[in-house]
Amino acid sequence: MSATILTYHHVADAPPGHPRRDLFISPREFNRQMDFLKQDGFHVTSLDLIKNSLTGGEPLPHHTVAITFDDGFEDIFQNAFPILRAHGFTATIFVITGTLGAAVSQGDTSECERYLSAEHLRALSAADITIGSHSTAHRRLGNIPLDEATEEIVNSRKVLEEILGRPVTWFSYPFGSFNSEVARCVRNAGYAGAVSVIRDNRVKPSQVYYLPRVMVMPDATLLRFRYYFSALYSIIHRIKNRRRWGEYA
Ligand SMILES: [Zn+2]
Repeated sequence: MSATILTYHHVADAPPGHPRRDLFISPREFNRQMDFLKQDGFHVTSLDLIKNSLTGGEPLPHHTVAITFDDGFEDIFQNAFPILRAHGFTATIFVITGTLGAAVSQGDTSECERYLSAEHLRALSAADITIGSHSTAHRRLGNIPLDEATEEIVNSRKVLEEILGRPVTWFSYPFGSFNSEVARCVRNAGYAGAVSVIRDNRVKPSQVYYLPRVMVMPDATLLRFRYYFSALYSIIHRIKNRRRWGEYA
């Protein structure tokens, strides 16, 4: 089924010398991309509606898109949230509970990464932005003992539910790292579904606990942004996905 789940990290101008400039989309570019979705008649929807459709509910309209942000940086509140609101778009933000409200220095730069606080999360949630879990400490869950992965999955959900006073039902694997046991653990912990870094703009019912996404790169011209939604994107990534993700792709 065609449904493109977009992945963003920072929406901000990349600080000079930042080690991960590939994670930054400028607010101007983000605004242009949202304008494009609006003007071209895309249906921006929630992960819940995509899951609902995958599990036998209403079919999705053609050109369905969901917008997700990983890591929960503060610039999402400052820069992306007003743009989403202006376009009437919903989104899901996956936050790391261990760094809520923190400022963490990055590599050799003097820059700090600032993370969303509990207060930000409540404001976003009240505005119908979905808050999901991106674990407590952002470890590679597919590579650590299952009891430690379970703690990351279960505790982060508990912390977020206490902050928000509502169920937290979506999970994003840090670094996209998971295996069948970790995915089962996410399901057993009460999540409705999870997103991965399998690269595709199509989703299958078997993938509710590792939904593929499309990572928006900072060099994405509008032409390239349009390509993210094309059949060509899916075909090109099919072979790579099979090689990297095997049965999950
Ligand atoms: Zn992450």
